[in-house]
Amino acid sequence: MSELDLIRDYFSRIGVSRRDVVLGVGDDCALLRVSADVELAVSIDTLVAGVHFLPDCDPEGLGHKSLAVGLSDLAAMGAQPAWATLALTLPEANRPWLDAFCRGFGMLAAEHDVQLVGGDTTRGPLSVTVQVHGLAPVGSAVRRSGAHPDDRVWVSGTLGDAGLALRRLQAGEAVPSWVGNRLDRPVPRVELGIALRGIASAMIDLSDGLTADLGHILEASGVGAEITLSALPLSAEVAEDVAAADDWGLPLASGDDYELCFALPPDRCATLDILARRSDCRLTPIGVITEQLGLRCVRADRTEWRSGLLGYDHFPDEG
Ligand code: ADP
Ligand code: MG
Repeated sequence: MSELDLIRDYFSRIGVSRRDVVLGVGDDCALLRVSADVELAVSIDTLVAGVHFLPDCDPEGLGHKSLAVGLSDLAAMGAQPAWATLALTLPEANRPWLDAFCRGFGMLAAEHDVQLVGGDTTRGPLSVTVQVHGLAPVGSAVRRSGAHPDDRVWVSGTLGDAGLALRRLQAGEAVPSWVGNRLDRPVPRVELGIALRGIASAMIDLSDGLTADLGHILEASGVGAEITLSALPLSAEVAEDVAAADDWGLPLASGDDYELCFALPPDRCATLDILARRSDCRLTPIGVITEQLGLRCVRADRTEWRSGLLGYDHFPDEG
């Protein structure tokens, strides 16, 4: 039973079926109709010490990241962030730690016009849960389920930097600060997500790695995809790691990049070129949606790179 099997089997049909639930379990956010013209997008994420971050990590970075991962889910729907709630479990009340945590959380919140409106504070092993709430005009939110054969697959930013930072940290190696920031202070692509309303046919944010997360788009849309490995946008550091052993693990299967991956009908790619010039991050076409199910990753010479790579699963084959 994988994490997703567990969610589907136990949590996808609890309670009644309300008419104002536009989209329930299964996407980056739930979509709830709150007025005739606006939908509320809601997502919640927990970061646990020892699983998602090191217990002695920089608290300012943790404050930033705990909000950033939620904003990234809003971005993946094209929703405009508005409110957040915060449930914090702390082993002790340490003022300098809390000052730094709130600074990181607060600066990112201010940047995206978000107000913290509630939460819960308890004593226990360190864990941070943030729920975010955003808004989108009715029918405009971009789901995972709209990809069609022949749509092009795009990603923002570069892939695998956070994975590289984590690997180096775990090996006790030096991490250049910009690589460390890619892990500790991800930049949620909120403006890009909103700009892709009505343009992208499907979208997800990359939290668990490209193969796993693009896999969710493919499954939800009932399609497959072919990715051109040489097209993947890589930083020089990740490119070097890939080239060393023809190992595409970092860009394909490491998590925490918080970039957007989206499908785009081919006739809209010109619109995207204009958007890319206005956007502050790199946008790269990396492949095509296919009728044939499954995900294929091909080298420039058309040979297939097989790895059986999966993203992070909190419950791999348990139960
Ligand atoms: P993401 O990586 O975008 O945060 P997840 O992989 O965590 O999404 O979750 C997949 C889907 O399952 C989401 O729609 C999420 O809301 C839902 N989900 C996860 N855990 C639960 C739960 N315990 N109860 C209800 N829904 C859940
Ligand atoms: Mg997500």
